[in-house]
Amino acid sequence: MKISIKDITSLPDQSKKFTGSIELANFSYLGGDFSISHIEPFDVVLSMIGTGKIHITFDTSVTIGGQCDRCLTDVSFSVPVSVDETVEVSEGQVVMDDDIGPYSFIDGENIVIDELILNEILVNFPAKILCQDDCKGICPVCGKNRNIEDCGCDDTVLDPRMAQFLDVFNSFKEVK
Ligand SMILES: [Zn+2]
Ligand SMILES: [Zn+2]
Repeated sequence: MKISIKDITSLPDQSKKFTGSIELANFSYLGGDFSISHIEPFDVVLSMIGTGKIHITFDTSVTIGGQCDRCLTDVSFSVPVSVDETVEVSEGQVVMDDDIGPYSFIDGENIVIDELILNEILVNFPAKILCQDDCKGICPVCGKNRNIEDCGCDDTVLDPRMAQFLDVFNSFKEVK
């Protein structure tokens, strides 16, 4: 969704509410592909501060579909979105901040709501996406999902560094 700044710049010191919507359906992040399956209904509020600033606020929550980091089964999770941005305007244009560079959510004279939402999603993205806190993941030996069945493979010798560590550990035990 895009909102033209002209819808608010002509109304000094006033606020205007817009029914929010999103067009963004999929995005990639850190090598993973995610889909947006639901967004809580929200209103975007634009307020003019005097004649020179636009205050943009809205809150919502987005449901995202992705894959468990360990076992790769489909999971969905919610991410809160809370937008509070102020931009300066002059002669019907948003003034770009020389320090920050161009705003990703400003396209010409439009405020791009999808971009504001995506920014918030990435800021609040969970550090780990798991189907359950104690997901056992996929067996590195046989590839089975260990949450579904315990394959019983011995995977302790897979990582040579770990094997070395165990050798040292065992030799210490022998000295005692
Ligand atoms: Zn999992
Ligand atoms: Zn296995």
